[in-house]
Amino acid sequence: AIEVRDLHKSFGDNHVLTGIDFHVDKGQVVCVIGPSGSGKSTLLRCVNRLEEPTSGQVLIEGIDITDPETELDAVRSRIGMVFQQFNLFSHMTVLRNLTIAQQRAKKRSRREAEEIARANLDRVGLSDKVDAYPAHLSGGQQQRVAIARALSMDPDMMLFDEPTSALDPELVGDVLDVMKTLAAEGMTMMVVTHEMGFAREVGDELVFMADGVICEEGDPREVLAHPRETRTQEFLSKVL
Ligand code: ATP
Ligand code: MG
Repeated sequence: AIEVRDLHKSFGDNHVLTGIDFHVDKGQVVCVIGPSGSGKSTLLRCVNRLEEPTSGQVLIEGIDITDPETELDAVRSRIGMVFQQFNLFSHMTVLRNLTIAQQRAKKRSRREAEEIARANLDRVGLSDKVDAYPAHLSGGQQQRVAIARALSMDPDMMLFDEPTSALDPELVGDVLDVMKTLAAEGMTMMVVTHEMGFAREVGDELVFMADGVICEEGDPREVLAHPRETRTQEFLSKVL
């Protein structure tokens, strides 16, 4: 589970997050929407401390990762992260992309890492691409490799930052299907997305951010159909 308490983040005098409180329970899928620049990526990055929060607390399975005493690598290894840009190693095969961190961070043997990698490639429907290089894959396939890579580290939860925004429209569905399956298998997920259909269908909770605060949150079907706040109404009228 993820719990965020009164989280603030500033870059210089730019107060990007100004008091965020929310939680993602085990097995829950929370989708985050909001205008560009509202602080969605910053929030996600604070959750695994890719960004240092200015104040407030982030608890991962009850462990406060903003506490300097916390061993960050141990907590981080439980959180998988998938970005808009897939960040695959272009000079490595798909299989190697999936094994390198397992061998280094999890100290797995090459053989074991490859076995786990193959199982996860199978999960995302790319068993036949083990020996391919990223450049020879479509964007959708590359993103599914990135998801399989994150899964190979056995995360307890997954953070997605606009995982389909860089994809051609016809490739979006395959990636969303993989995420939908993960959700159905009980993965705890926090998903920044513009895919309102996904949020409606898969999300347990929808969070609308604006200007560094959570403006509105609730059942996705409810928020999308009947937004209460003017800001939410304005935003949704532009994107729906
Ligand atoms: P988008 O929908 O465009 O991805 P976002 O909601 O993810 O937007 P953020 O990327 O979190 O927004 O950015 C929020 C604000 O924080 C912006 O004003 C941005 O310029 C600023 N910001 C983000 N990262 C940094 C950084 N590393 N240094 C300085 N300012 C930053
Ligand atoms: Mg962003």
